Amino acid sequence: MNDAFIRDLSEIVKTENIKVNEPLNAHTYTQMGGNADIFVTASRYEEVEQVVKFANEHNVPFTLIGNGSNMIIKDGGIRGIVLSLKRLDDIQVDGTRLVAQSGARIIDASREALSHSLSGLEFACGIPGTVGGALFMNAGAYGGEIKDVLTEAVVVDREGNLKTLAAEDLDLSYRTSNIPDNGYIVMEARFDLKEANYDDIKAVMDDLTFKRESKQPLEYPSCGSVFKRPPGYFAGKLIQDSDLQGKGIGGAEVSKKHAGFIINKDHATATEYIDVIHMVQRTVKDKFGVELEREVKIIGEDPES
Ligand SMILES: Cc1cc2nc3c(=O)[nH]c(=O)nc-3n(C[C@H](O)[C@H](O)[C@H](O)COP(=O)(O)OP(=O)(O)OC[C@H]3O[C@@H](n4cnc5c(N)ncnc54)[C@H](O)[C@@H]3O)c2cc1C
Repeated sequence: MNDAFIRDLSEIVKTENIKVNEPLNAHTYTQMGGNADIFVTASRYEEVEQVVKFANEHNVPFTLIGNGSNMIIKDGGIRGIVLSLKRLDDIQVDGTRLVAQSGARIIDASREALSHSLSGLEFACGIPGTVGGALFMNAGAYGGEIKDVLTEAVVVDREGNLKTLAAEDLDLSYRTSNIPDNGYIVMEARFDLKEANYDDIKAVMDDLTFKRESKQPLEYPSCGSVFKRPPGYFAGKLIQDSDLQGKGIGGAEVSKKHAGFIINKDHATATEYIDVIHMVQRTVKDKFGVELEREVKIIGEDPES
């Protein structure tokens, strides 16, 4: 990717929104990861459509990043273009319908619903991702999930075309959707909520926040629960019963407060963090015969040795 490539790209996105060799540890919750060759911040839907077409024409790999709260980026960074939609963060409410752009935080969508006395997004009040990231993996907590309230999504497809899909078209199920398989970029989500009493909604959100703050090691960088719930078990309990809490490699450690979390305790590298994930998977498999499947995504390149 030479100067001419950047010059052509800057005809789509303003130059100040294109960063070369951008450190990605500033864009992830774990505060780890190498550099992106090119980091683009989009602020209009048309820019996203055109950047996808541009990447296709130039055969350049293309990666989407939300709030970086469910991904580990390896220490070698990401080749090609990394696209952020965080500036597309508008949220509008009309009656019981809430429309949020993909870069808005799902926490803010939940707060906006509260401020209009609308119920349905309380479960999301402590999930630190964007709306786009939440749809990607059908985020959920405390019995609620995106699938319960989403009616439609506006996406950009692999060819760079904008389309509107019904929620059912996204195959949302436990922590998955067909968004990655189809290569969709979520641009906007439309939720159908219910009128309710403000104080009742607030009480639920306060209770969930209290539960989260008392149980999760929010004082350290992490990517939340690293593993999915294995059928018939709880990942945290299996890890706890394997005596892994407090065990670590380098600066990464299995949290003493919540066994399902691996924290970046002291300037961990992504390699160390991933090694701890493997250590946990191996130990739980040896001890209980259960395979722990990762919820968090690992992307990017290994560092050059
Ligand atoms: C402390 C903590 C607590 C958490 N608690 C919960 C919880 O209770 N429940 C839960 O479900 N999750 C939880 N998470 C995980 C995480 O917040 C969610 O998975 C969130 O939905 C990820 O959103 P993100 O914007 O950070 O996505 P990222 O981590 O940036 O990206 C994750 C994936 O989504 C893709 N993606 C991002 N934006 C888009 C888009 N616009 N279109 C298409 N694909 C996109 C990315 O390419 C990537 O593959 C927690 C994380 C932390 C750190």
